[in-house]
Amino acid sequence: MIKLTKRQEEILQIVKEEGPISGKEIADKLSLKRATLRPDLAILTMAGNLEARTKVGYSYKESANETTYKNIAEQLVSDYKSHPVVVRNSSSVYDAIVQIFLKDVGAIYVVNDEGHLVGVISRKDLLRASMGTQDLREIPVNVIMTRMPNIITIRQEETLHAAAKKMIEHHIDSLPVVLEINEENHTYKVVGRITKTTIAKAYMELSKSHTV
Ligand code: ADP
Repeated sequence: MIKLTKRQEEILQIVKEEGPISGKEIADKLSLKRATLRPDLAILTMAGNLEARTKVGYSYKESANETTYKNIAEQLVSDYKSHPVVVRNSSSVYDAIVQIFLKDVGAIYVVNDEGHLVGVISRKDLLRASMGTQDLREIPVNVIMTRMPNIITIRQEETLHAAAKKMIEHHIDSLPVVLEINEENHTYKVVGRITKTTIAKAYMELSKSHTV
């Protein structure tokens, strides 16, 4: 990476906003002579920041980093979601622990008789419940779960960027992917899940072509 001069930064900004644009037009915008700009344009083109095409002018070339970042950020939840693991709200804490091991997940979602999302149980919730002396077969999951309307959800048409932001802001490891049935009543159907691992995998997959 070369360190750009202030003028080179200005040129990049102009081309980013208005490209393709001719050398003469860039010069006019900066109130400079075309000849004065020639070395800067040559440097920016050689460094790969600009692309020069005869009769078309200069266009901005995104760096590999920018492309990778955009690719990841713009991916849709629908293309990356995995299967949700759900239990009924009448299930016991013991059942929930068994499901966590069988399905190899970090959290499970609790649904009511209509199949609507009513709770989330994570590993820490189960550990907390296990610290008591009560028989875990006797405690229903709805006693220990995080319940609606406190569940942070994501919709299929949202981006992985939005999912990552929600998980970081709320200090949680996963999000249920939901279909809205009735938003006012907080009625949702669970159709998938997105975890921090989903984001890490998408990052690895999409940056493969740019890694050495
Ligand atoms: P862990 O228990 O393994 O640290 P999390 O960080 O995901 O897993 O969970 C921390 C707490 O946040 C738990 O009490 C859990 O019930 C709750 N939680 C997990 N996911 C969500 C979510 N999507 N919305 C609201 N609360 C959640």
